[in-house]
Amino acid sequence: MKKSVKDLGDVKGKRALVRVDINVPLDKEKNVTDDTRIQAILPTVKLLQEKGAKIILMAHLGRPQKLKEGQKLEDLSLEPVAKYMSKLLGEEVKFVKSPVGEGADKELEDLKDGQIALLENIRYYKAEEAKDDDMTFAEKLAKLGDFYVNDAFGAAHRNHTSTAKVAKLLNPAVSGLLMEKEIRCLSQALDNPTRPFTAVVGGAKVSSKIGVLENLIDKVDNLIIGGGMAYTFVKANGGKIGNSICEDDQLEVAKAIEKKAADKGVKLIMATDVLVTNDFSGNGENKVVDVKNIPDGFEGVDAGPETQKAFEEVVKTSKTILMNGPVGAFETPAFAEGTKAILKAIVEATKNGATSVIGGGDSVSAAKKFCNAEDFTHVSTGGGASLEFIEGKVLPGVAALNDK
Ligand code: AMP
Repeated sequence: MKKSVKDLGDVKGKRALVRVDINVPLDKEKNVTDDTRIQAILPTVKLLQEKGAKIILMAHLGRPQKLKEGQKLEDLSLEPVAKYMSKLLGEEVKFVKSPVGEGADKELEDLKDGQIALLENIRYYKAEEAKDDDMTFAEKLAKLGDFYVNDAFGAAHRNHTSTAKVAKLLNPAVSGLLMEKEIRCLSQALDNPTRPFTAVVGGAKVSSKIGVLENLIDKVDNLIIGGGMAYTFVKANGGKIGNSICEDDQLEVAKAIEKKAADKGVKLIMATDVLVTNDFSGNGENKVVDVKNIPDGFEGVDAGPETQKAFEEVVKTSKTILMNGPVGAFETPAFAEGTKAILKAIVEATKNGATSVIGGGDSVSAAKKFCNAEDFTHVSTGGGASLEFIEGKVLPGVAALNDK
């Protein structure tokens, strides 16, 4: 267990250097178009305000070191976010243009207890993402605070200066409330699940989910494999998959995963019938066929009705459910029924007392599209970070924090 902001002693008047994930989308006029990530860090900010700390927020926006065509560095400034937060909170969030340049300490010197400052995009500095052991940049950042808080779960899988290195120079180094909830919910599901424990793993590729499958097989009772990755399994077993997405170099991996599941007594649930199409855009011919006999010219894009029922039954009798990846190409409405059905079943199970955790970018957007985030026990805010957490990897941003 990591120490959290709740465990802090008297920090009145102290400077809290807080890494947050407020990588929010901005439109051309620099308006924040979705403030979910800002809302998510407010409990930590407010708690620090109540404690009378001075709050210095560090964050990134986009990838300044890899600008897209036509994109200017100014497009990735956090100044509009500081303005948005000022309006949202009804108090000035002081924007610090040059956090480690001359005069930055001065700008922060007159910060009052409970006042908030936001530093410019920390990724403007090349040293933020440097993979070496040089601590010069970390030392400069550490000078800005008396203690460190990391509430940026979404960036916790990065071994960057603001997410990990600086934590080693400040004491205490604690998790924020959001980070604490993410770790608690994900670890509870993975390490101490109420059984039966079911994992739903979907998405496009087996190759991107090998780590997830390998780690989950040791922990779950039931494993539902859906989405595009299932066709690699079908082909590995001699099925005819038509034009379905398939990774031929992963056939052996698929077989090994099936064998491991059998050896461990994990029940593997895969599609029996699937919705296939001859046009991925959704405007062609769609029909339901046997998953082992998909006609040429057609590809599998969603779970069929019989499969949906089977998925729902397993989910509804589970006490812990972890979903990572959709079971169909849900972005196209005609191919969304399977993902919708399984999410609705997870919501129902949750209402009946099960613990449900949705992790990973695409399943999170599907969960929000077809249900309410509040209907699940936890919807993770970090795509890459939750994926690595479910794979059982150590997240540098978490590892760097003080133990309880
Ligand atoms: P991933 O990023 O690997 O979790 O994959 C998520 C993506 O997989 C989503 O955008 C889905 O549209 C896509 N997907 C799910 N099922 C299929 C399928 N049968 N064929 C192609 N793509 C799919």
